[in-house]
Amino acid sequence: MAHVSFENIDKIYPGGTQAIFDFNLAIADGERVALVGPSGCGKSTLLRLLAGLEIATRGVLSINGQTVNHLSPQQRNVAMVFQDYALYPHMTVRRNLEFPLKMRDLARAEIERQVHWVTGLLSLSGLLDRLPRQLSGGQRQRVAMGRALVRQPAVFLMDEPLSNLDARLRVQIRSEISELLERASATALYVTHDQAEAMTLGQRVAVLDQGRLRQTAPPQELYERPANTFVAGFIGNPPMNLLPAMLIVTSEDQLRLRLGEQSLPLALSASTAALWRQWLGTPLSVGIRPEHLRMAAEKDEGLRAMVQDAEYLGHETLLYLRIDGLALPAPVVVMRLPGIRIFHKGDMLRLFLSPAHLHLFDAAGLALDHGITGHDARY
Ligand code: ADP
Repeated sequence: MAHVSFENIDKIYPGGTQAIFDFNLAIADGERVALVGPSGCGKSTLLRLLAGLEIATRGVLSINGQTVNHLSPQQRNVAMVFQDYALYPHMTVRRNLEFPLKMRDLARAEIERQVHWVTGLLSLSGLLDRLPRQLSGGQRQRVAMGRALVRQPAVFLMDEPLSNLDARLRVQIRSEISELLERASATALYVTHDQAEAMTLGQRVAVLDQGRLRQTAPPQELYERPANTFVAGFIGNPPMNLLPAMLIVTSEDQLRLRLGEQSLPLALSASTAALWRQWLGTPLSVGIRPEHLRMAAEKDEGLRAMVQDAEYLGHETLLYLRIDGLALPAPVVVMRLPGIRIFHKGDMLRLFLSPAHLHLFDAAGLALDHGITGHDARY
């Protein structure tokens, strides 16, 4: 297996579209990195650069310390798995699996050993004599994975390999792929636009936006400490609520959070209050995840909000709310409640925003502080 690095990579396509801007990422030997971002952000471009199907305009790409910028795809020893499985339709599963090995002129016994290994690993034994059209989508995807695996590539590249599958199968194959890559100790770069897929498959997740890397971190860190409003608003389903806000002080010198025409007291420790005071009066975005919004208790001052809509999902209810007195166009705020809770459009609520779960971002969208893992976890 291998380690991979992208250093200061730019990609400008003929015609002038710059798809990638100064991209840096190091993937350790045996590490699985998921690259996620909206359609058109440059994910496939990065994968194709590593595969050798495109050439970087600037920067250094290396595999195992060797610069590969100008090596052919064959010389790089990478295996790509695409969303269209690219199996040979007239060949049985067995022959599809053998094909890359025959191309390498391996001895018959070795070919059989490899096919046996991958057949066991992917539970394909009952399918070896079938043609691709006699397989389900999930089975075809497993064969495509198998064909990549028998090549024993230095690096696995996967471009939305699950996007042709239905939702249930996606979840099943997703965990199979994850286990498989782990068992094979494979170095892998996995591209998807689906944040849930990225979060379950990647040991680290790299979030890309308009050709720029916004954050690379393990899934939990990405969720708990998003580096900017793009990541906060992309990761999570529904993602983090982001609201325009400002820190203010009362005439008694109490710190409050102002959202439009409303304001809330902030019960902060002295050290956090001292930290947050440096941003007094500056326009901020305040972020809070849907599961961290609470109904205010009697004693709390709450934020007045009106129910716009409710989604009853069985195990939880998602409430779509509008905060009173926010400048238009005001964002819809999503609140997640366990179980089924019946609400009607127009119901008025009071929301409690625990400072422990508030994320502060500056006007440029960069994170200033994360309550949740910050100083005030006792709230
Ligand atoms: P993603 O995989 O995230 O959907 P892509 O890497 O396919 O994004 O595309 C990134 C950007 O580069 C897009 O603006 C796309 O239109 C552009 N692009 C991709 N391939 C080419 C190409 N061969 N020629 C010109 N522009 C391209």
